[in-house]
Amino acid sequence: MSRNEALFQEASTCFPGGVNSPVRAFRSVGGNPRFMARGKGSRLSDVDGKEYIDYVLSWGPLILGHAHPKVVAAVAAAAAQGMSFGAPTEQENRLAIAIKRFFPSLELLRFVNSGTEACMGAIRVARAATKRDNIIKFSGCYHGHADYLLVSAGSGVSTLGLPDSPGVPASFTSHTFVAPYNDAQAVETILKGNKGTVAAIIVEPVAGNMGFMRPRPGFLETLRSLCDEHGTVLIFDEVMTGFRIAPGGAQEYFGIRPDLSCLGKVVGGGMPVGVYGGRRDIMSMVAPSGPVYQAGTLSGNPVAMAAGLATLEVLEQEDAFGKARNYQEHLVAGLQELGKKKNADWTVDGLGTMFGLRFLSGAAYSYEDLKAGDTLRFGRFFRKALESGIYFAPSSFEAGFTSSTHTDDDLELTLKAVALALDA
Ligand code: PLP
Repeated sequence: MSRNEALFQEASTCFPGGVNSPVRAFRSVGGNPRFMARGKGSRLSDVDGKEYIDYVLSWGPLILGHAHPKVVAAVAAAAAQGMSFGAPTEQENRLAIAIKRFFPSLELLRFVNSGTEACMGAIRVARAATKRDNIIKFSGCYHGHADYLLVSAGSGVSTLGLPDSPGVPASFTSHTFVAPYNDAQAVETILKGNKGTVAAIIVEPVAGNMGFMRPRPGFLETLRSLCDEHGTVLIFDEVMTGFRIAPGGAQEYFGIRPDLSCLGKVVGGGMPVGVYGGRRDIMSMVAPSGPVYQAGTLSGNPVAMAAGLATLEVLEQEDAFGKARNYQEHLVAGLQELGKKKNADWTVDGLGTMFGLRFLSGAAYSYEDLKAGDTLRFGRFFRKALESGIYFAPSSFEAGFTSSTHTDDDLELTLKAVALALDA
């Protein structure tokens, strides 16, 4: 038995399904997950010594690749000064000021420990600011695992074939309206039919949790103007798109200023960090400057702040974003060309440092469209690519990510492996 299989058997006696987050299991592609031992740059090695070119990158955070020397040094230096104080530190100011340079819409912000917490905080303060209860989300968009957001929540949930999660009382989701992604008309209908009751619209401005999905031209602009018209708070969940669609996220790329934003992933450089923030008048309502309670023992943890700050410094100073985007563009062009050559009947698309591939020809604008994709074929493709050392996300309902450390060699090896996988 390989070391991987032995570890997975052991893990299955410790954790539900042998994993600590469901998307890590290979349920939708078949086989067992790989136990990783180490990563360097674009490469990942498992416990049996097999190497992979990594397009998961810890599900997005590692825009500088694995174990970037400046990030590792910053973390080691911070840890040596003490792991946590539960009191303010200078590092929190430094990272906040860096974030504000990338995201000028974050006039005031709050550090939390995950994207889930960031979305919970943003929605709570939006509800308080508007004195309204209802929210609108889009099917296929994931905003963490808070009860009232586990409605048509994309990736992990759809991978498991659970439309919603048991354990969530129906009354907890009764304030959550769901509209199809890219359907501004549906949003307008909900707003008009429920006048004066919708606190917030929360959206992945480029979706990554139903697979990669662009907003249609005008969709985000219409959400902005509908929110203005109805006094509703527009929340961009940029946990995945932040620093990845453009350095300043999708809001920079599309030139739209949301009222509140959520960040995570890249902002922690591989450590657990989330952020919510935005308009000063709204964020001033958060305790202790206002009455909206939200707290965290490890929020703004100095070691996590150091990892985030080092990551943003490299992003600013070494054009890491440009390198990762160039790689995405070459990768997507190469995959599209291969698809044509091999009649693969698949669609490959990408923007910034995110991409997606799915076995579905023709246009798709919503999660409902995407469900028509051939997931069995994706599973076969995924397993073949993995055998050849290419680590794509183990679900066609997930986005892929590039880093500043992916090389021309990686590109050549990836395209060779993909050609073989498509033949098979
Ligand atoms: N929002 C988006 C857009 C995400 O992609 C994710 C995680 O994938 C989350 C929120 C939740 O973040 P976390 O897993 O850090 O709780």
